[in-house]
Order: sequence, then structure tokens, then C-alpha cells
Amino acid sequence: MNILVTGGAGYIGSHVVKQLLEDTDYSVTIVDNLSTGSRKTLDTLRAIRDFKFVELDLKEFDKILPILEENSIDTIIHFAASIVVPESVENPLDYYMNNTVNTTNLIDKAVKVGVERFIFSSTAAVYGEPSSTPISGLDENFPTAPINPYGMSKLMSENVLKDASFAYPKFKHVAFRYFNVAGADVYYNSDNKLEPRIGQSFPNATHLIKIASECALGKREKMAIFGDDFATEDGTGVRDYIHIDDLASAHIQAIEYLKVNDSDTFNVGYGKGYSVKEVVEEVKRVTNRDFQVDNAPRRAGDPALLISNNSKIKQKMNWTPKYNNLGLICQSAYEWEKIV
Ligand code: UDP
Repeated sequence: MNILVTGGAGYIGSHVVKQLLEDTDYSVTIVDNLSTGSRKTLDTLRAIRDFKFVELDLKEFDKILPILEENSIDTIIHFAASIVVPESVENPLDYYMNNTVNTTNLIDKAVKVGVERFIFSSTAAVYGEPSSTPISGLDENFPTAPINPYGMSKLMSENVLKDASFAYPKFKHVAFRYFNVAGADVYYNSDNKLEPRIGQSFPNATHLIKIASECALGKREKMAIFGDDFATEDGTGVRDYIHIDDLASAHIQAIEYLKVNDSDTFNVGYGKGYSVKEVVEEVKRVTNRDFQVDNAPRRAGDPALLISNNSKIKQKMNWTPKYNNLGLICQSAYEWEKIV
């Protein structure tokens, strides 16, 4: 099989490429514009097994079809996208262009050359700001109602995929709605010490576990908890944090899944929530470092609670997470933060 990974030099894409190189014999082509992805990550991945790299922005529409043809691509895993919510509110058209328009072009060319499988990274942001969450978490039938252009740009791409797969049954897809992805490559060195080879490299990250890890290392003086008056047990926001390597393994399984099953949409999360306070305490515990944590107002558009119902991916794809452990998620993020 010949797999094209767009955004393969980025945080999530690189962890999927790592598993493709380590656990399969599929040939891998990466397309990335290196806007947030890193060359160093590509060098690290190349030490596992070789692959082809094309430095390209997906907005270069005319260059996509030749890449698919020249590399006999039969499967696409599509990560390349813009992902910063506040930025999407300020520059919505950039988000619709880079996410929805470029994805639509990629789908168009994929259908034209007969690509059979398309795996798409979508987001729990398609669910918007649920006024209440069922005890069992949000399932895939929960109404979608994005509250920002980022979530909407992803939902629109999901819809383009659905219509394309309906019209061209040979073209099958899986859309994954990610919950809160965190942590880094679970790799133990020769001293049996956790030493991630890849992780979240892009500076100015806004994600909680990355920020808390930076504080634990003294890279950042202090951090803030955005809102302590939510209707949750301790008043802080609750999220479903999933280890990057478990998220990545779902993509590898999706390739096999689509060989025999029809197109579908799956949540990817552990189905368990932790509050901001709990996460900060866990980072302090596993790193054995204390740091200053202030209280700050809520961030615009932050829902109180987002927890997945992951029954569907567990049942239909037999997805079995290996790292459902907040301590390991925080520890791997911290160990990576020391290196990057
Ligand atoms: N958060 C926080 N302080 C930070 C970063 C995040 O209190 O410095 C909170 C945020 O309000 C949310 C949770 O942590 O409740 C997860 O935020 P993150 O940005 O990691 O992911 P999101 O859920 O927004 O995609």
C-alpha cells in the first residue's frame, strides 16, 4: 500500500508516520509546507525507515494530482490544517481556505485518481458548546453545532467527504473527531528511561499540558487557570485527554478497517474527564516541581465539559488504547519538553 500523509511533519501527523514506519511495511509519502511541522522531526522519523518528503502547500492545487499518480497513492491520511481557535475567529477566510477549500481539492484529486481510503482528522470542536453532556459522554450522533470557524471548517470538510463517498462508493473515508490530544512518543532509551523522540515542537502552544510542562521546567514563569466558576465539580473546565500514541494507532487501524467496512465517523477519546485543576496537580506530581498558578477569567468559547463517548470506535474498530493514564500523558509531555 502507498500512503500519503499530509501534515506528516506536524505533531499528530508525525506520530502516525512513526507507527506506519515501525509497524507496517507500507510506503509513505509526506506532504507538508513546514509552517508548523519541523525538519528535525522528519530526520528523526527517517532514522526509523525511509520515506518520501515533498515540501508543498496544499493550496498549490495543480501539484497534488501528479504526486498522487507518481506515488500510486491508494490511501490518504490528511492532517495538514490550521488549528488555532481564536485565530480562526479573527481570520475565518484563512481557515475556510486552508482547511475546507484545500481539503475539498485534495478529495477531488483523490477521487480522480482512484484513491480508495481517506482518513480525516476532525475535531470535537464540531460539537460546539454543549449545554449539557450525557453521563455516557458525547456520542457521534450528538448534534453538531460548531461555535467558531475552526470547528465549522472541519465539519464542512466532513460533509464534503460524506457526499463524495456517497457519490463514489469506491472512495471510502473515516473521519476522526479528536478530543484533547496530549503527550509525546512513548519511547524508552537503553537505560529504560522515558525519552520521547518526537513531540509537540511548535512554539507558542496554547494547550494546557504543554503549558504546565513548560512551567514545571521553568521555561515559563507561571500559568493561569481560565475560569473557576464552571458548573463542574471543582469549577474548572473538564476535558477528555488522550495520549498521542493512542490517537495515532486509531489511524493505523482505520486503514485496515476501510479495507472491509464502509465510511464512518468516530470519536477518539478515553471517555473520562479531568478538570484543569486535576491536570495541573498531576503535572506537579509527576514532575515533582511546583509552579505558580493564577486564576484568570474564562477564555471565550470554552465549554465547561467535553467528554467523549468512545463506544463506537471500541466496538466497531476494536480500538484498544494502551496509554489511558494521565500520569504518563503528563510525564511524556514533560520529558519531551526537556528535549525540544
Ligand atoms: N486551560 C487553562 N489554562 C491554560 C490553557 C488551558 O486553564 O493555560 C484550560 C482551558 O480553558 C480548557 C482546558 O484547559 O478548559 C483545555 O484547554 P486546551 O487549550 O488544552 O484545549 P481545548 O479544550 O481548548 O481544545
